[in-house]
Amino acid sequence: MATGFKTWDKYISMTPPRVLMPGLAPQPEGMEDVPALTILEAARLKGKSVGIVSTSEIQHATPAAFSSHAINRADYDDISEQQVHNGLTVAFGGGWKFLMKENRKDGEDLIPLLEKSGTRFVTNLADFRSVSGTGPLWALFAPASLSMDIDRDPAREPGLDEMTRKAISILSKNTNGFVLMVEGSQIDWAAHANDPVGIVSEALAFDRAVAEALAFARNDGSTAVIVAPDHGNSGLSIGSKDVASYSSETLGRFIDPIRNARATAGRVRWEISSNRSNLKDVLRNRWQITNLSPEEETALLTAKDNDLQGALSAMLSKRAGIGFTTWGHTGEEVVLGFYSPENDGLHGVIENTDIPRYADTALGLGLEQSRGTLYIEARGAFPDAIVATDDADPRNPVLIVKQGSMERRYPLNRNYCLENGKPRKLKTPTVRSKDRWFLSPPE
Ligand SMILES: [Zn+2]
Repeated sequence: MATGFKTWDKYISMTPPRVLMPGLAPQPEGMEDVPALTILEAARLKGKSVGIVSTSEIQHATPAAFSSHAINRADYDDISEQQVHNGLTVAFGGGWKFLMKENRKDGEDLIPLLEKSGTRFVTNLADFRSVSGTGPLWALFAPASLSMDIDRDPAREPGLDEMTRKAISILSKNTNGFVLMVEGSQIDWAAHANDPVGIVSEALAFDRAVAEALAFARNDGSTAVIVAPDHGNSGLSIGSKDVASYSSETLGRFIDPIRNARATAGRVRWEISSNRSNLKDVLRNRWQITNLSPEEETALLTAKDNDLQGALSAMLSKRAGIGFTTWGHTGEEVVLGFYSPENDGLHGVIENTDIPRYADTALGLGLEQSRGTLYIEARGAFPDAIVATDDADPRNPVLIVKQGSMERRYPLNRNYCLENGKPRKLKTPTVRSKDRWFLSPPE
């Protein structure tokens, strides 16, 4: 969805080593494990402002895939360093700890680097609200992910809708236009936990963010809004084998247990004391449950500590007549929402890769044409040069390219090279994939 390429699930905007999906053309030779330009990168190179907003840490798979390249989604050190060097006008969400030297294998402090490049960096809600102007602005409100919306302290963390509104207000000042990726990151996490309160409240928080985007687009008249999940999760159904007869049930049977809840199962679990003596109090306060059956009580009192959150979710799901098929992702088709003033684009049954292709065409990004000129493998880019890796500091390797009297040094994950010691900005960060280096030309 970020590049127009299908790839492997651990890959962050890199082409796969092999194409395994039936019906897709095989990978051309030499195109294995290569950085694939993202629509945010292509948009920035066309003079548009770009941004990412998530309720996960911004290094998590989806925001990472729009703003970095890695063959392992867990490579937060590489991902965050590239994000710092990839020209984001806004980056809102969680994840500040991954920018700090004490948490990084390379020992680099990325926040001062951001600030040196003219980016405001805030972690506090009051500071976030007081920033005006055109950015660039990074606002990370938690060391890793933010809270789920229903559990969120509104004095410390903004909702996804507020982050979306602020991102649009900054990005839309660019008269060349903008591309913003907003992820309701934790709908997926609540689904992995089979937590119906988390799923519904996270989906509603995302819905409010979509409303912000639509309100802007309708008023602006030249903006498209695309709403699409990257996959299904948990096989949630309204109605399950536990519901004997749909025709005699009331709507409230399905809705009230969720509507009455004031916290996710994870938060309820956290509030229950280790001897569980306050179980009934917490359930009354948080889920308005006052009629715990003997079976429910036994299940909650005897669940192992690690299983208590699951037992709470299972109890509430049963009360709400909600069923689940798995704790994992699911393979069904997912819903696509699309708005544009011309209603010109996406409808019907499409591939996820059609989404960036639509953006490419609608915005004239030239995604395909840029592929031959950006992220070029170093060995091919400089056929008459000496190319070597400086591993003197193995945590911060540098590619060296010697051509006559010119020596260029490319520090990994950064958007500049040093030409005989003088910094020169590059169009994209330098990326290493296994032992191959990929470079882009100067701006
Ligand atoms: Zn997931």
